[in-house]
Amino acid sequence: MFKIILAICFAVACKGDECSDVTIVSRSDWGARAPKSTSQLSLPVKYVFIHHTDGRACTSQSSCSSVVRGIQNYHMDDRGWDDIGYSFLIGEDGKVYEGRGWDRVGAHTRGYNDVGIAISFMGNFSNIKPKQIALDAAKNLINCGVRLRKVSTTYILRGHRDMGTTTCPGDTLYAEIKTWPHY
Ligand SMILES: [Zn+2]
Repeated sequence: MFKIILAICFAVACKGDECSDVTIVSRSDWGARAPKSTSQLSLPVKYVFIHHTDGRACTSQSSCSSVVRGIQNYHMDDRGWDDIGYSFLIGEDGKVYEGRGWDRVGAHTRGYNDVGIAISFMGNFSNIKPKQIALDAAKNLINCGVRLRKVSTTYILRGHRDMGTTTCPGDTLYAEIKTWPHY
């Protein structure tokens, strides 16, 4: 019986189960532009960095997709980067928006882009915390990354400000992530 379940798993179902508690909105779903170029991360990564976008918050897939497209345009056209900088973005709708994803080097945490992934909460979290569904989405995403072997089992969680001169990810969100595992 076990063998049969295993066989079915390999055939169809179980590949996505590592992330069954996370809703990831793919690049094609939010209407991403193609990257100018890409480079591969060496996996699993040692660091997970938390950011906020310090911009608009959003509470539905359509409004969040619009915000993510705006950030991608800003990063590519104004900053001159190859793609949206973050690995993933989190909406107040509780969904995860795929940026550069698990496998590609991002542009988010100077000096550490090639050893970590970045998860950015959309909004400004200096004075307020993200909604619980957004916090849960980020935590579930990290655990999913560990199960997929994209993130080291002994990963180190940090806020952007821990690695450079910035207030990111905002005082309130920063205080929150300091209570999370692996901080
Ligand atoms: Zn940041």
